[in-house]
Amino acid sequence: MPAKKTETTMTDTTKTTAKATTPKTTGKATAKKGTDKPAAGKNAEKKPAAGKTATKKPAAKKPATKKTPSKKAETPVDNGPRRSICFIGSECYPFVKTGGLGDVMYALPKALAKINCDVKVILPRYKCIPWEYQEKMVYKGSFYMDLTANGRQFYVGIMEYVWDGVVYDFIDNEEFFSDGNPYTNLIVDIPKFCYFGKAALAALNYLDWVPDVIHCHDWQAALVPLYLRTMFKDTQVNRASVIMTIHNLRFQGVYDIKTIKYWSGLPDYVFNKDCLVQKFVDANMLKGGLAYCNKITTVSHTYAGEIQTREYGEGLDAHLRYHNNKLCGIVNGIDTDIWNPKTDKLLPANYDVKNAIDQKKVNKRELQKALGLEVDDHKMIIGLISRLTNQKGLDLVNAIVPGIMDEHTQLVVLGTGDSQYENTFRYYENKYKGNVCSYIAYKEELAHQIYAGADALLVPSQFEPCGLTQLIGMRYGAIPIVRETGGLKDTVEPYNMYENTGNGYTFDRYEAGLLYDAINRAKTLFFTGREYWDRMVIRNMEKDVSWEKSAWEYKALYLSLTPRY
Ligand code: ADP
Repeated sequence: MPAKKTETTMTDTTKTTAKATTPKTTGKATAKKGTDKPAAGKNAEKKPAAGKTATKKPAAKKPATKKTPSKKAETPVDNGPRRSICFIGSECYPFVKTGGLGDVMYALPKALAKINCDVKVILPRYKCIPWEYQEKMVYKGSFYMDLTANGRQFYVGIMEYVWDGVVYDFIDNEEFFSDGNPYTNLIVDIPKFCYFGKAALAALNYLDWVPDVIHCHDWQAALVPLYLRTMFKDTQVNRASVIMTIHNLRFQGVYDIKTIKYWSGLPDYVFNKDCLVQKFVDANMLKGGLAYCNKITTVSHTYAGEIQTREYGEGLDAHLRYHNNKLCGIVNGIDTDIWNPKTDKLLPANYDVKNAIDQKKVNKRELQKALGLEVDDHKMIIGLISRLTNQKGLDLVNAIVPGIMDEHTQLVVLGTGDSQYENTFRYYENKYKGNVCSYIAYKEELAHQIYAGADALLVPSQFEPCGLTQLIGMRYGAIPIVRETGGLKDTVEPYNMYENTGNGYTFDRYEAGLLYDAINRAKTLFFTGREYWDRMVIRNMEKDVSWEKSAWEYKALYLSLTPRY
């Protein structure tokens, strides 16, 4: 594997001198190749682009011309015109994941690749990416790029890994990405993501790959639209349309103007109140990206509406209302290959809709044993898998735990985050020994086992852009108990006891009493109407929570931005 290089350790001069001018002039060196050449997407209609590496063929097949058409004939699948998309974001499962963004960055490109899209994902090459992936990366080239306002040069290496029809390009720079964690604090993270956004565009020019659409995710990639339309405006990559997706509006990348101006090197004219500037003294990276992109999406319809209100707008509601003609919501899905109780290798007992009710009991017993809880089929296990932050409604949970704990109920918490919540849950574990387990850690394996072994799953968030845990919970037959906000509202239909429809229990206002009431309603059905509860379990497992439908919505959006006549 090529060693990571920094500004000072860079040695591959022969390879890079030819290209070294590329980033300095933000891509002009390669622009000549591209000016009269169609974009990658155009090429792709004839042959797979993602350049040289894409392995997918268009999925459409000719109908079979056999004599027994009823049996053998395949229905042709029309996956629409081919488009090339470049995802830029700061995390992606399984390389590095801290939350839902990591899941989306993995699952959506994979789903798009299946419907005739060439997808490249650009990520930082963090040191913490497991060695099993690092060793498979292939060196694609490197160059120096000017970054700061005074033109300091920084090394950009490109390491590539192709998997499941998606090309992953990792931006390599030891100076920025050698922390053990993708995010540390803003003092470190602001320069890191100023660098990353610009390096991603310079890499596209270097690789001579112009996508139809550049799809940026969250504040860490929010300077991309600004770089694209200013410093890269005379380069080939500027032919692409650009989309910004907000996964969580709470995080915006805000720092003082001087620092962001210095690190980004962006021209003065983008530092105005309608673009980057916030409250006269700060620069807000997300705000700038939203102003400069062609389309804004967020991860559910309800959240798209909520963020335009003062209550949920995190200070950007007016800016979003101003840009609302280009804003829409597309709800997330989950990767149903990874999240499949029938094949999940991390479960003690696999199951599908046919045997879920029995097999979930096996998983429940194993979970109880593993976590030191009283082993008892009869008890109702309520799970909570979450970052422990105030977004997740944990003050409500804290208020109701004493009320819900009785000899029939167990609570399992898996999470890490604010010490205040970690300590609260440790306290409850101690107080209700044998019936409460607080596992304060990030543990993928245990998360799978809780989804499979729990009867219900709490997601009482203060706000929730989409939320994946309720989707996974439904897929694994754990009934969600959620607050009606953001994606929770869009994906969990309240249980209707008269018609026996719906997927879970919901409450509206952010009040502990309403959460308490929702849990009690769930308990009532669990203990007194098990047949109906079990039917809901099966109904939820059959619900389509995959990416398929949403991937099509994204594709429709890409097509609307790149019409070909
Ligand atoms: P957010 O992105 O706000 O953290 P989401 O519901 O969108 O919330 O995504 C959370 C993802 O992270 C889910 O896949 C969930 O299973 C996983 N997760 C959260 N906390 C933990 C944890 N402590 N251990 C393992 N997985 C976790």
